[in-house]
Amino acid sequence: MDKNVAVYVCRGCDIGASLDVEALSEVATGELGIERCVAHDCLCGAEGRELIRKDVLDGVTAPVIVGCSPRFMTDVFTFDGCRTERVNLREHVVWSHEPNDEDTQMLAEDYLRMGVARAHKAEIPEPHEEEVDRTLLVVGGGVTGMTAALGAAAAGHDVVLVEKAHELGGWMGRFSHHIPHRPPYRDPHVSDVQLQVAQVSDSDRITVHTDTTIQRITGQPGQFEVTLGTNGSTTSLRVGAIVQATGWKPYDASRLGHLGYGRCPNVVTNVQMEEMIASGRLVRPSDGKPARRVAFIQCAGSRDKEHLPYCSAVCCRVTIKQALLLREHDPEAEAYVLYKDIRTPGQYEDFYRRAQEDPGIFFTKAEVTGVDENEAHDPVVKADDTLLGKHIQVEADLVVLATGMVPTAADGELIRTYTDAKGVVAKGEAGAQLEAAKATVDRLKHLEGTAILNLDYRQGPDLPSLKYDFPDSHFICFPYESRRTGIYPAGAVRAPCDSELAREDGSGAALKAIQAIGHAGEGTAVHPRWGDMSFPEFALQRCTQCKRCTEECPFGTLNEDVKGTPQPNLTRCRRCGICMGACPERIISFKDYSVDIVSSMIKAVNIPDEFEEKPRLLGLLCENDAYPALDTAGLKRIRHSANIRFVPVRCLGSVNIVWIADALSRGFDGILLVGCKSGENYQCHFIRGSELMETRSSNIREKLKQLALEEERVRLEQLPITDFDRLPEIIDEFAAQIDEIGMNPFKGF
Ligand SMILES: Cc1cc2nc3c(=O)[nH]c(=O)nc-3n(C[C@H](O)[C@H](O)[C@H](O)COP(=O)(O)OP(=O)(O)OC[C@H]3O[C@@H](n4cnc5c(N)ncnc54)[C@H](O)[C@@H]3O)c2cc1C
Ligand code: SF4
Ligand code: SF4
Repeated sequence: MDKNVAVYVCRGCDIGASLDVEALSEVATGELGIERCVAHDCLCGAEGRELIRKDVLDGVTAPVIVGCSPRFMTDVFTFDGCRTERVNLREHVVWSHEPNDEDTQMLAEDYLRMGVARAHKAEIPEPHEEEVDRTLLVVGGGVTGMTAALGAAAAGHDVVLVEKAHELGGWMGRFSHHIPHRPPYRDPHVSDVQLQVAQVSDSDRITVHTDTTIQRITGQPGQFEVTLGTNGSTTSLRVGAIVQATGWKPYDASRLGHLGYGRCPNVVTNVQMEEMIASGRLVRPSDGKPARRVAFIQCAGSRDKEHLPYCSAVCCRVTIKQALLLREHDPEAEAYVLYKDIRTPGQYEDFYRRAQEDPGIFFTKAEVTGVDENEAHDPVVKADDTLLGKHIQVEADLVVLATGMVPTAADGELIRTYTDAKGVVAKGEAGAQLEAAKATVDRLKHLEGTAILNLDYRQGPDLPSLKYDFPDSHFICFPYESRRTGIYPAGAVRAPCDSELAREDGSGAALKAIQAIGHAGEGTAVHPRWGDMSFPEFALQRCTQCKRCTEECPFGTLNEDVKGTPQPNLTRCRRCGICMGACPERIISFKDYSVDIVSSMIKAVNIPDEFEEKPRLLGLLCENDAYPALDTAGLKRIRHSANIRFVPVRCLGSVNIVWIADALSRGFDGILLVGCKSGENYQCHFIRGSELMETRSSNIREKLKQLALEEERVRLEQLPITDFDRLPEIIDEFAAQIDEIGMNPFKGF
């Protein structure tokens, strides 16, 4: 569509005082052929806004606002029926460069050229609206799942609650007494889980399926098709979003032989102790005699690199609960708690104090070195007392190991490996790959049928995990999100937690799920590009089935047909553009973000010839952290080299290497790519952007070598937003390095 582009230059916020606005306007009207270019003292004021609004009513379709960062005044510069282009002269030019300087003026003029180029090419995104189902599926009927179901029902949504056991309640339903979660935080209380079970059963909006698991999930947010399996029969239904609340399983105590488990009959786990408490029989398994001297070993296999490296968050309070219940059951009984640290945060300290005040409960800070037993099967705990510096031995009737919680999703990654290998075997193509796949299937066949969600996604049947086997949810920015849009893990499957936190999590996840259904219906993106109406469009007639996009999409948006052609599921998409960066055929684009749009912006920059000795650098800056970091540096008036021109990108993963080729052949002397931190504690808003760019960079280095160009001309940096003051330093270091290397020999060709 032909655009009616008009340019509005703001003189406010130091712009007019630092630049030759007249010369800038002449670039617009002369060189760029823009018919209407207006300079104004304060565009964001009522008068400035009204001026643009009137022009839009009179037929301007692409106003280019030359002023502050697009991260500010978004509402002020939004006009019905058109797409506003923002040129950031305030933060990225006048607040970060020498005023009234030739290089600063050249920088401003280049940003104007780039903005106008984008305004000509970018289209107004139109939402991809879908008919959606507003029902929520909650998988797992423990306290988390029940809370999610009740919350969603209260918000007016129908809920299907699927529980694999015969009854609702999860672990908390099996424990007779609970840690106190209300003041005065002193005594265990009798389980109230059945009240919640009754609320669920009484709700008209919640349909409960017990003895049921998920056989298959296909589709996408707003339109998930679910097959349930109940005692051999199947049911199909449609839901809009999913909460996974499948909870935890106890750490495998058979791996704790050094603590006597499996060797000494009177060594049990905290879960077994809960069962004894619930049955009212606190006795030794070996001979049924009352357990009167009970030793509790804390962190049994927890906070231990060889077993569970993390803290399960509740075991200390569980032991205090069990010790108090033991004493209530038998006032003559004694409890010995051997701990590394007691962790009872917040007001739970009062619960700990209550146990410390009890004359029959003894706490000792100790490193347990082993557990044996004497002839009478009395377990003997050997430990180094870390306070007294002595070696101690505790002879007990019973030892309770405070073992930790493992997420039920723990095998997710292995199940994916197994499923992928099964796929290769099923295809049956000959070769080494087939042999390796057969071996994998053999090694992992015990995982057959253990997937939880059974997603029919190209990227595996369950939620991918990150650390310690918990589903990855990008804990820094958006705790409830997973890498599968519209599916939200909550409760003990997401992180070790007590039941109070689990309930909170259930409510949070239900709200996210409801939000996801809303976004799917409106055709807009969920977090972090909340409300974005653009979506990837695939010119599939030119697809070579290379599968790069289906492999690299971090959110499992793209399935494949048998030939390997991508099958987009658009409401799963987060609009990161990683598929666009991956595609060698350059056939994936968004209405307002495409290979062509960015290439045009790069080509719009005026490259001085080699004799002018003004190097030009291109910066591709991730919009999530790096771009705001440069804005902040501008706000703080930190200066950086005026030789660099930045193009914001949705994610470094969306960078198509053709842009780098374009920039080098255009005469840019160096290219700086700045993205979020990758690795274990990644901060990339789209999970893998910087990591993918790193992989692609090795291809770029290869290309540079072939062209006999220095590898150092392309640099990749990762930057947490909090290190905004580092960014100007990085830019200046890079500019100095390029000065040293010299001009791009292709300049002028
Ligand atoms: C020994 C011990 C004692 C504890 N005591 C307390 C206490 O007193 N107070 C307290 O606040 N916290 C306590 N906790 C922590 C508490 O158990 C958890 O916070 C709580 O169970 C988390 O609830 P959840 O619903 O997330 O998970 P869960 O209780 O594990 O519930 C998950 C549900 O999902 C179901 N499920 C699993 N897989 C599937 C599947 N594939 N399909 C369908 N359904 C499935 C399960 O059958 C289960 O019903 C204790 C923990 C331990 C280890
Ligand atoms: S834009 Fe991102 S989430 Fe959407 S299909 Fe492409 S890679 Fe996947
Ligand atoms: S990356 Fe491009 S060419 Fe390759 S499968 Fe995807 S759309 Fe097709």
